[in-house]
Amino acid sequence: MQNNITTLLLGIQDVEVTGVSEERRHITIDCKPVHDRVCPHCGSSHAWVHDHREQVLRDAPMRRKHVFLRVKKTRYDCKDCGARFEAPLSFAAKGKQMTKRLIAYVVDAFRDIRSVSELAKEVGISTTSIFRIVACLFIPRQRLPRVFCIDEFKGDSGGSKYQTTLADGEAHRIIDILPTRYGKDLAAYFSSIDRVERRGVEIFVSDMCGTFKGVKEAFFPQTGRKRLRKAGERSGATACALTTTGSRRSPAALITL
Ligand SMILES: [Zn+2]
Repeated sequence: MQNNITTLLLGIQDVEVTGVSEERRHITIDCKPVHDRVCPHCGSSHAWVHDHREQVLRDAPMRRKHVFLRVKKTRYDCKDCGARFEAPLSFAAKGKQMTKRLIAYVVDAFRDIRSVSELAKEVGISTTSIFRIVACLFIPRQRLPRVFCIDEFKGDSGGSKYQTTLADGEAHRIIDILPTRYGKDLAAYFSSIDRVERRGVEIFVSDMCGTFKGVKEAFFPQTGRKRLRKAGERSGATACALTTTGSRRSPAALITL
């Protein structure tokens, strides 16, 4: 009964809470699955214990502290069908070491516009993980183009004063819009993109802003020997057209149109 109340309070099902420890910055909740011996393949409850393992899932913060669920799991071998299985955790996010509730918390937090790094710090996961969560929820980002344009614009999203637009300079198409223009947020965004994809960018177009120059140097160093000249085309919020005669003094960048 006591355990039922605890799991109800915590909002986690399928487990029995076996202990809670609290430190200055985080809370660890120990638990183990209940009814985990039933084979999901044939429904048999005759199973051998194969081994034990511990899974740690990050959960949504509680009382401004990071929360970890430390789950003691058992793998079984079914005596009837031979399958090896372990009890699924209904509250675990598939393929991630975190709970669905933490993902919901992150998504909900975007109602209040704030920096991604602040949110990452609050929930105790990396900014890259934040962007991965967001990427799962919205329309997939388009692949980085050969001619990559980055620019800022003054938006009206109610939080950050400026947003960042990313565009394809050849197709004249916006490929993504980022909620801020802060260097740390841009760094988190681009570090979440596979390096091979980033290497596909040949020309990097931006204004002289130091933040964008930093993005170029950190994430698109291969574009460093392109020199851009004035171009007459505009695509969405970002204008671009360029030539690519080499110049060591003019790394990627950098024209204002
Ligand atoms: Zn079975």
